[in-house]
Amino acid sequence: HSPVPVPDPAAGEAVKSADRAHVFHSWSAQGLIDPLPVAGGQGAYFWDYDGNRYLDFSSQLVNTNIGHQHPKVVAAIQEQAGRMCTMAPGFAIDVRSEAARLVAERTPGDLDKIFFTNGGAEAVENAVRMARLHTGRHKVMSAYRSYHGATAAAINLTGDPRRWASDTGTAGAVHFWGPHLYRSHFHAETEEQECERALAHLEETLAFEGPGTVAAIILETVVGTAGVLVPPPGYLAGVREICDRYGVVFILDEVMAGFGRTGEWFALDHYGVVPDLLTFAKGVNSGYVPLGGVAISAEIAADFDERPYPGGLTYSGHPLACASAVATIEAMAEEGIVEHAARIGETVLGPGLREIAERHPSVGEVRGMGVFWALELVRDKETREPLVPYNASGAANAPMAEFAAACKRGGLWPMTNMNRVHAVPACTVTEAEAKEGLAVLDEALAVADAHTTAGA
Ligand code: PLP
Repeated sequence: HSPVPVPDPAAGEAVKSADRAHVFHSWSAQGLIDPLPVAGGQGAYFWDYDGNRYLDFSSQLVNTNIGHQHPKVVAAIQEQAGRMCTMAPGFAIDVRSEAARLVAERTPGDLDKIFFTNGGAEAVENAVRMARLHTGRHKVMSAYRSYHGATAAAINLTGDPRRWASDTGTAGAVHFWGPHLYRSHFHAETEEQECERALAHLEETLAFEGPGTVAAIILETVVGTAGVLVPPPGYLAGVREICDRYGVVFILDEVMAGFGRTGEWFALDHYGVVPDLLTFAKGVNSGYVPLGGVAISAEIAADFDERPYPGGLTYSGHPLACASAVATIEAMAEEGIVEHAARIGETVLGPGLREIAERHPSVGEVRGMGVFWALELVRDKETREPLVPYNASGAANAPMAEFAAACKRGGLWPMTNMNRVHAVPACTVTEAEAKEGLAVLDEALAVADAHTTAGA
């Protein structure tokens, strides 16, 4: 259990003023942010310099699947640093081979070759490059309401308004609507209808783009950042069939959903679907050292038996990152962490969030599985009008900002995005911790209720 933080406000102020002077933060208006100085973390918690401890229901961008400072992983990084800090990607080294073997053992089908990257976006860049080289085609199709990363190809494939600001206009990114019954693009009333119509829409879009021009379809197995959208049964299998019919490479992006988040090693394990390429990052080593990768099918890997694969960076397959992946995967297996995440989802988070939703007029829908949940907050349950307008900022976003502040006062660090709160603690979160988080959410939702038509 986490140690009680020792307050040291002066140290916190020093960290903050150096940060304000010299750190240029990602995805932020530099003059409008007020980053919390963080002193440390342990397990499901982290704490600041003023003695406040927060239950981490964000997992640091849905990343620390085994919690903060897992001792086996910390020890593995230290041990590797003592032995060999770096070695270029062209050499065969023990931790890289072992990390690749442990990942390949868990991926389905013949996804047995692992290309290591430094994170998720770079994995997406390389999966797209492999698909283009494999097919000789250029376009790549992806869903609105998705996030695939912030580099050139990845940001253009991302179906999220955050894409607009940094859209570099990469040619060949084509968007389509995926299934999302609560806000159905297809006016569907049941999951079956939504699934059927979403598949028909995808196939029609593909036909009009010209299947001979489309290299790949990329999807998040369970959409994360854009709302924890769990696909209806049959959707992913249907996409697999469409890809097979038109010779299109199927890429599943498991950067957020992979490594235990949904209560399986990979989210695709819930659906029995095997893609041609699978991207991963985050949970592979809980983000202790930057690492991601692409798991590659035998057929696509064989393209590069005789010709070089044109990709890779200085740090690809970094020894410290691979050592932390080996230790993370071993710890997850030994400690039954994936099964634990499934159980917490089924017995605590799922039932608890559904019960909360019934009590609060501001909760429109609860979605998720494992330790991967979102509450969609609304102004009106009947009309489903979002609690804040789409892509709101400043005063327009006040109801969400007030709600997040109430969570923090209660000792919970939430992850909010547009009109949603995502409940995404570590896979290792205990039953008591999960219940503690639910209690804070329950109380803080009163703040959101006040902004509903019922509460106004
Ligand atoms: N793909 C998905 C599904 C993600 O959720 C993310 C990040 O949240 C990325 C790709 C990009 O990963 P990274 O930020 O490590 O580049």
